[in-house]
Amino acid sequence: RGKTAGKKRCQCYSADVDHKNCREFLLRSDMQKALAEGQFVVHYQPMVNLHTNEVLAVEALLRWEHPICGMVSPAEFIPIMEETGFIVDVGKWLVEEVCRCHRQWKKEGLPPLKVSINCSSVQFAEESFVESIQAILHKMGFDPRHLIIEITESVLIENAKKVISDLQKLQEIGIMVAVDDFGTGFSSLSYLLTFNIDIIKIDGSFIQNIPTNKTSTIITHSVVNLARELNIKLVAEGIESLEQLSYLKRFKCHTGQGYLYSKPIPQHKLIEVIANKKCEPKKTQRF
Ligand code: C2E
Ligand code: MG
Ligand code: MG
Ligand code: MG
Repeated sequence: RGKTAGKKRCQCYSADVDHKNCREFLLRSDMQKALAEGQFVVHYQPMVNLHTNEVLAVEALLRWEHPICGMVSPAEFIPIMEETGFIVDVGKWLVEEVCRCHRQWKKEGLPPLKVSINCSSVQFAEESFVESIQAILHKMGFDPRHLIIEITESVLIENAKKVISDLQKLQEIGIMVAVDDFGTGFSSLSYLLTFNIDIIKIDGSFIQNIPTNKTSTIITHSVVNLARELNIKLVAEGIESLEQLSYLKRFKCHTGQGYLYSKPIPQHKLIEVIANKKCEPKKTQRF
């Protein structure tokens, strides 16, 4: 029986791989090869000035074009990469790729947008995390002032001492630090006292409940005010509707990203968007 089950698990090299264990097995075993074979790509989502529609920065989001599983979401493969430690290698590749894309934008005469990257606690656990980032930026001729590092609240708590000292070193060379998914972690706000955050990204789950859920609406408004009073930049994540947008504007939130403006898009499409300088909210929403 055991043998047949084992065999069955291997039959997933067929058209559609939907069995969860099977997929996970595939993803787990294929990562190293995937990186070598260029199956990872970076998509970019614009961060937009909500009043002028100007593109202010872009967030780099990892994608895996798996030959059997198709396009795999980072929500599925990042946890595996964190568990195996492979996120460290992919993270370095991503920084290099972002630098290459940035160079391409310059070549095409486009403005040098800031790029935001996501980093997990496993990456900070590496002794030489800061040095490795610095080395890549130096090698690629990338101005650190164009880089933003996004961390979640949990990263700040997990290894607070090392993380905070690393972040300070990164800030010293001009990199900005953003707290991602703000409001969803089991964290206290006390890190706002000990650490100088540049940007807060309020989680899309709050934004998407505006205005139907009164609590989400009030929390969003309060976080906008909190950020302003603390002199921290604020980005609203996951804006999907014109109604949400109008509330955010009324709350004096000036920056946001979300499907309303653009889904994360590959480099060649992003070039069109930044050549335009503006990214308009879609009048009709279909996604
Ligand atoms: P995140 O950093 O909070 O990224 C925002 C996620 O929300 C992205 O999902 C994006 O596609 C999605 N999103 C953007 N606008 C909307 C919207 O209007 N509605 C909805 N429903 N979703 C929206 P994605 O690309 O699937 O990434 C998921 C998470 O995976 C990211 O969350 C981030 O935590 C992680 N991730 C992605 N790339 C990397 C990476 O290179 N390194 C690390 N460590 N984590 C990454
Ligand atoms: Mg992020
Ligand atoms: Mg987020
Ligand atoms: Mg997230």
